[in-house]
Amino acid sequence: MATIGFIGLGNMGAPMAANLAKAGHRVIGYDINANAVQALASAGVQPAHSAAEAARGADVVITMLPAGEHVRDVWLHQGGLIEAVKGGVPLLIDCSTIDVESARTVTEAARVAGFEMLDAPVSGGVGGATAATLTFMVGGAETAFARGLPVLQAMGKNIVHAGGPGAGQAAKICNNMMLAINMVGVSEGFLLARKLGLDWDRLFQIASTSSGQSWALSSYCPAPGPVPAAPSNRDYAAGFMAALMLKDVKLSQAAADAVGSPTPLGAHAMSFYQAVVDAGDGAKDFSVVFRWLAAQPRQ
Ligand code: NAD
Repeated sequence: MATIGFIGLGNMGAPMAANLAKAGHRVIGYDINANAVQALASAGVQPAHSAAEAARGADVVITMLPAGEHVRDVWLHQGGLIEAVKGGVPLLIDCSTIDVESARTVTEAARVAGFEMLDAPVSGGVGGATAATLTFMVGGAETAFARGLPVLQAMGKNIVHAGGPGAGQAAKICNNMMLAINMVGVSEGFLLARKLGLDWDRLFQIASTSSGQSWALSSYCPAPGPVPAAPSNRDYAAGFMAALMLKDVKLSQAAADAVGSPTPLGAHAMSFYQAVVDAGDGAKDFSVVFRWLAAQPRQ
């Protein structure tokens, strides 16, 4: 069993760290939010007072942070994690969803300092993180992937080696652009159904076993009612925050711009999540786009 430093104990990081401890690893956790650190003590995660303290002496160091700027800051700044782990040979893993460029910059800095690093963003939401059934899409060298696999298996079910450094992030932003568009599609379907006099439970029963089926529909149905565990039934408490979804669709749009790939629906979906965030619902689950859409006039 490994000693693991885990930095970023939010909606996703907290259950992931708890699952590592449950699997028998020694986990030392840190978050700038002291309450998040304390809340995990009962799950067997030892508290640290800084990211460096959590990482020092670990066999594996994992980050689960909001965005590229946090990841660059935590790994690269003076006294950051790459400096903190010098003297050992830990495997470094970033599970956050960030831009490909930041992932490659941090991985390169790690390589120069003599460390192997994986970008390993996840899919499956808080439910998947809690049940240890996440999908990990992993970028990095074969040797690093082989080292990381047993650790990732304690947190997920499908662990896919997507390619070299940055490939995990590339897969993730493509996946989330599809999800962003799907959620708007499901929302439009349920809103139209109501206007046509259809019952939402009946529509769910039909669409979830028909060709309209999707994760957005069956796991996070944005219309309240049909899926009891969905954020729509608890006033859209996250879940996966709309602000983070906006970040991800912006990443996919920037990537599409850079390589000249057509993503007109991605651009349209991005404008919806931007409107949700502008309306003050950035901290709600991204399925709140349903409620925003419901208030829009027909164009
Ligand atoms: P979150 O905001 O709940 O958690 C992030 C945590 O990082 C917070 O607890 C915050 O205090 C901490 N943090 C920020 N800066 C820090 C620093 N400098 N040092 C230490 N801790 C710091 O976000 P989340 O929902 O857990 O998402 C984390 C990442 O996973 C994001 O990149 C997100 O896009 C991705 N993701 C989220 C979901 C989801 O359903 N929530 C699903 C897949 C991927």
